[in-house]
Amino acid sequence: MKFSIPLLFLGFFAQFAVAQTSPAKSAPATKTITPAAVDSLQVEYVRTQPDAELWLQPGDRLQVRVKARTGLKVSLWNKHPLPELPAAQNKGETGLYAGTYIVQPGDKLSNLNVPVLVDDTTDVYPYNVFSTSSKVTLLNPAQPLYGVTQSKNAYMNYGLGEDRLGGAKMGFLDSLVRVQVNGKVGRDYRIRLSNTLNAYIPEQQVKLEGPGTYTGESLTSSWSVTGDSAQGKYDYVRVAVGQRLPYTSYMDVDPARIIVDIYGAVSNTNWMTLHRTLREVKNVQYQQIASDVYRVIIDLKHPQAWGYSVGYKGTSLVVKVKRQPPKLKLKHLTIAVDAGHGGTNKGATGKTGIPEKDITLKIAQQLQQELTGKKATVIMTREADVTVDNTTRLQKLREAQPDLLVSVHVNSSGRPEVRGTSTYYRHLAFRPLSQALYEDVLQLGLKEFGNIGGFNFALNAPTEFPNALVETAFGSNPEDEQLLINAQFQENMAKQIRKGVQRFLKETRKRK
Ligand SMILES: [Zn+2]
Repeated sequence: MKFSIPLLFLGFFAQFAVAQTSPAKSAPATKTITPAAVDSLQVEYVRTQPDAELWLQPGDRLQVRVKARTGLKVSLWNKHPLPELPAAQNKGETGLYAGTYIVQPGDKLSNLNVPVLVDDTTDVYPYNVFSTSSKVTLLNPAQPLYGVTQSKNAYMNYGLGEDRLGGAKMGFLDSLVRVQVNGKVGRDYRIRLSNTLNAYIPEQQVKLEGPGTYTGESLTSSWSVTGDSAQGKYDYVRVAVGQRLPYTSYMDVDPARIIVDIYGAVSNTNWMTLHRTLREVKNVQYQQIASDVYRVIIDLKHPQAWGYSVGYKGTSLVVKVKRQPPKLKLKHLTIAVDAGHGGTNKGATGKTGIPEKDITLKIAQQLQQELTGKKATVIMTREADVTVDNTTRLQKLREAQPDLLVSVHVNSSGRPEVRGTSTYYRHLAFRPLSQALYEDVLQLGLKEFGNIGGFNFALNAPTEFPNALVETAFGSNPEDEQLLINAQFQENMAKQIRKGVQRFLKETRKRK
């Protein structure tokens, strides 16, 4: 942003300049800056990277880019240089200045557009002060900032990467979990999990606490590991933590395990009671894997994990472990079917103009018939052409607690020649469901597009029940699209998906 008030600014500037630096030239304020002098610098922009509100702490990188006339001397407020990039490194463009400054202890900026000094090096004029378009705050680690999560669906991201489905998600947090905020980029707080691990969380999901929050060390104490009655569906691992600390979790395979890492907890566990009511939990143990990370390890009895959730009851962390259903036949199970998109969310559209939402609904309704035909209980996330966002779908599914979930979508590519069928999973433990579905859908003679893991689709995120996404075929490919809009093909697709679910159940019965 063009912003030059050199004379006024210098006094102000002195307040936040790092102590050891002094203004560049002797008594610059005595010279008069003319608008023509400022214009001659041709400053087009002065930006932090990313160009967004930043909260940084010592050790973090502050990156600034400036576009101006070539041949200038550009530096940060503390004289840290922003050298001009060689034109060869920059597609022949001159006048691009960039640099990285590592924030030092004692540096102070409070919600300020960072001053950047631009000097034409002729000694005719003193430097001019411009400032970044976004504001920067440097945090003082001696006064850590804490906040508390606001909802049960607060999610953490690994980084600030974006793709069409959003950044890669690390997992969800329960409400009222206290987190240490050690940075901010745009509208995301960076929270400290351990000495070596940070995560990002949207700012609206955390309420900052006033300064002086007391956070003592948290010692874990005894565990209670119990199950529902014989007819119930869950086992529970309860770990007394002392306060609601952040956690991450995942499922491991071979052996089937649930792993929960609690950040900021130190073991003082000398007592773990395991009750005879347990049906799925085989063993429990813990490891202090770092001075500030306490790992809960839950071994499962069956090779196939059927899901889990993590939350707090008071200040005890509770891992609710879904038992393998006693009878792995459709007539004993509740299957959730998710028809992608709907209402105002049309999804992808191919040559014929028939929207994805119509095709997914038809296949999902056929699948509902296929499954009820085998006496399964079926839950639909939508049964008509209505708008239901993914957050609402997730909430509904978490309440309904199905035994498994299949999402139905139509794929799309910018390259019309791309075609074929594919299935997707997010959690490795749920891969077998996606593989079984893939096997049976391929019987329709579709081209192989693949079985794809680590997929960041909202309805592949739940850990509570096995789930998979079927991208039936490509609506953007004319041949695939002709199949997708064909009623007989839709019926056949639904039948193969039902067979895929049955294949998964059969293979699970056989796994020992
Ligand atoms: Zn879709």
